[in-house]
Amino acid sequence: MTVDLLITDAYIYIDRNREIPNGWIAIKNQRIHSHGHSSEPPPAASTTRSAHGQLVTPGLINAHHHMYQNLTRSYAPVTNGTLFEWLQGLYPLWAALDEESVYLSTFIAMVELLMGGCTTSMDHMYVHPQPFLIDAQFRAAREIGFRFHATRGSMTRSVEDGGLPPASVVQDEDTILADSERLAGKFHDATPGAMGRVALAPCSLFSVSERIMTESAALAEKHDLRLHTHLAEDPDEDRYCAEIYGCTPTEYFERVGWASPRSWVAHYIYPSKDEIDRLAHAGVCTAQCPCSNMMIGGGAADAMDMRRRGMRVGLGCDGSASTDHASMWLETRMALLLGRFRNGPHSMSARDALDMATRGGAACLGREDETGHLNPGACADLVIWKMSDIALAGALTDPVEAWLRCAPATAGTTIVNGKILVEDGIPLIAGINDILRAHTREARRIQRLTD
Ligand SMILES: [Zn+2]
Repeated sequence: MTVDLLITDAYIYIDRNREIPNGWIAIKNQRIHSHGHSSEPPPAASTTRSAHGQLVTPGLINAHHHMYQNLTRSYAPVTNGTLFEWLQGLYPLWAALDEESVYLSTFIAMVELLMGGCTTSMDHMYVHPQPFLIDAQFRAAREIGFRFHATRGSMTRSVEDGGLPPASVVQDEDTILADSERLAGKFHDATPGAMGRVALAPCSLFSVSERIMTESAALAEKHDLRLHTHLAEDPDEDRYCAEIYGCTPTEYFERVGWASPRSWVAHYIYPSKDEIDRLAHAGVCTAQCPCSNMMIGGGAADAMDMRRRGMRVGLGCDGSASTDHASMWLETRMALLLGRFRNGPHSMSARDALDMATRGGAACLGREDETGHLNPGACADLVIWKMSDIALAGALTDPVEAWLRCAPATAGTTIVNGKILVEDGIPLIAGINDILRAHTREARRIQRLTD
């Protein structure tokens, strides 16, 4: 018996419960085959590589993102606006999204994620000025070999209905529901090890009708899909729900049938403790986006308190609303800083943050059995991290803390589904320079830059 790939001499973080200093890990048939300490003989391998002195972790999992927004990164007219000002400034530009620009933005986002050590990502695509945009995203994911969970986002309430976006980027209910079923039928792969799945994701409680919320929940039940939305992100949402629905955002979420283990929500900053307990008990997971929260300058959820209450918490880069980056390493570090800044030095460790970025994200996506850890049988999604000897000079006692505390880490080697997609920090993806040039062209078109 010969395995496909053997990585030796590494410090291997298997999951929260097991680390192997100076160990090896073997991959066969797109799965983790085995691992062990260097004193135990490894299996024979077709390819062996030494990761001497380097940290190996499960690939990080991005539980909340809006990839198309890299077409309008750090767009100068709105960089200092509030969330709503930022959205109102950008919606008219996003109305020009089409299949080509969404394909290119997804491609770039996925390559950037790979370079930051992320091997599985969702995307919350909720602006649909044209059809088949998520089809274009799957095309990019398949070309790269990225493990992708698309979420069919939606908005029905335009300015005319008291919503925020212009009419050009909202859709009618029947179109949304029919497209949700079409995408699930075409792209959702429920089998173990799937590279593509689909979830349903109305943008937020205040941007879609009640019918979309209830029927999305019913469709998810019918097709066994997961559900995602932004929840309790802004105090304005409390006021909106009180006025329109006569309850809090969490109470409305429960009323429309979303408080179930199918659901994960983004942010969840302003619930009461009792509401956190209720959703935790219902099995709802949360994605925290620390960089986004801090850049917007609003509040942030207390992730460690949520975890203590039994809620599973993942991490997400979120869109360019906030951070304009797609590094899950950076997001993980920010989660650590935010947690400690909030609750003191005893409140959170690098391992807590890494656990959120791996198993927490896997729980959000409903993949905890086979992603977010490196136990035998898991999907072969892993990262050998790259840090300079200078940045690590003097860090001798704890490679996991050093990974998150010392200077920026990037992925040296990123492996997805057993395949090396980044090597020595460089993406091994054909045509990336052409994609980048085309992305710049589309970004200029969408930002209406003429000179
Ligand atoms: Zn978001």
